[in-house]
Amino acid sequence: MADYPVPELGNRTPLQAANKPNMDAIAAKGCSGLLKTVPDSLMPGSGTAILSVLGYDPRRFYTGRGPFEAAGRNIALDEKDVAYRCNLVTEEDGILIDYSAGHITNNESGELIKKISLEMGRSGEVEFFEGLDYRHFLILRNYLPKEVVACTPPHDAIGRSVSEILPKAVTAEAEATSRLLRRIILESKDVLGHHPVNVAREKVGKNAGNMIWPWGGGRKPVMPTYKQKYGVDGAVISAVDLVKGIGVYAGMKIIEVPGTTGLYDTNYEGKADFALDALEECDMVFVHVEAPDEAGHSKDYELKRRTIEDLDKRLIGRVMNGLKHECVIAVLPDHPTPIKIGTHTREPVPFAIYSSNIEADKVRRFDEESARLGGFGLIEGEGFMLRFLGKTV
Ligand SMILES: [Zn+2]
Repeated sequence: MADYPVPELGNRTPLQAANKPNMDAIAAKGCSGLLKTVPDSLMPGSGTAILSVLGYDPRRFYTGRGPFEAAGRNIALDEKDVAYRCNLVTEEDGILIDYSAGHITNNESGELIKKISLEMGRSGEVEFFEGLDYRHFLILRNYLPKEVVACTPPHDAIGRSVSEILPKAVTAEAEATSRLLRRIILESKDVLGHHPVNVAREKVGKNAGNMIWPWGGGRKPVMPTYKQKYGVDGAVISAVDLVKGIGVYAGMKIIEVPGTTGLYDTNYEGKADFALDALEECDMVFVHVEAPDEAGHSKDYELKRRTIEDLDKRLIGRVMNGLKHECVIAVLPDHPTPIKIGTHTREPVPFAIYSSNIEADKVRRFDEESARLGGFGLIEGEGFMLRFLGKTV
């Protein structure tokens, strides 16, 4: 949700321009502040930022997209395994032209990954798992002595020559792994290039899923559970595998809500109702909505304002009206995705916490500017969860 002032919105941020009485009420009756969710040494994104929000230092626990997203899809990892995200991409004349193979559908990509698994997989060594759409997984089993190789994220390398961006080892120990990954990438073209799914796609002018691209590799993080850390039972509601994976490693209950999409058309009311039900069994529910981030990536300020209004009315308002017991409630973005640049940034995000045990500050609205004057000031990392749970002031 967090953003910069947008000229078309009268130099207001989408949060300032949106009609969001429920978030404003939390800020008005509670206490606000700014939270630095992304440490300077890490890349801004939901993985690092949401770990911070939940009270886990991402410098210690964020091991890469692969292991977290795999956990979100119930792919079990051993301590010795390395999990990579594995995109279906489009290569043309030696150039990487599409990180998502034309946003290939689930059915098509499922067939392609099955073929890859059959031709190139070796159980207990090199295993491929189906994910959603273009997002799949490569698990290297029993890889403890070998280093994780950093691979180029395909969305950052569009238009570049494949030979330039193939995985390279920076240490001698990583040489065998990077050789293996290079071989997997190059061989996948032979396996997929003439697959009937791709022939059919090319016939109608769509990009083929003719290569796989591993990236975001890492080992399973060793994390204390949320219950061990804070003595509280937690649950997670999200449509996004990365976020569910954080919940899995934190030992939280993952609640699946029908009709959630990770987009503007998600089931806001369903998330609210399932969150209310979850509060009957759990002490804390973390509800994540991806839509404003996607609107930021699309550089669409009107859409972003609408996603914030939907979130306020259809989810937060519905939760507040449906609460059966006194609760602590907080609202915050994980990281900014400003319209102007269409990608994640690392500025501190506004947050507001309402609790009958917290004295209200002077802030009356929930937005980037108002939160600067909040009673909590500027805090970092675990500071948010400690204040939310009333373990510090
Ligand atoms: Zn994003």
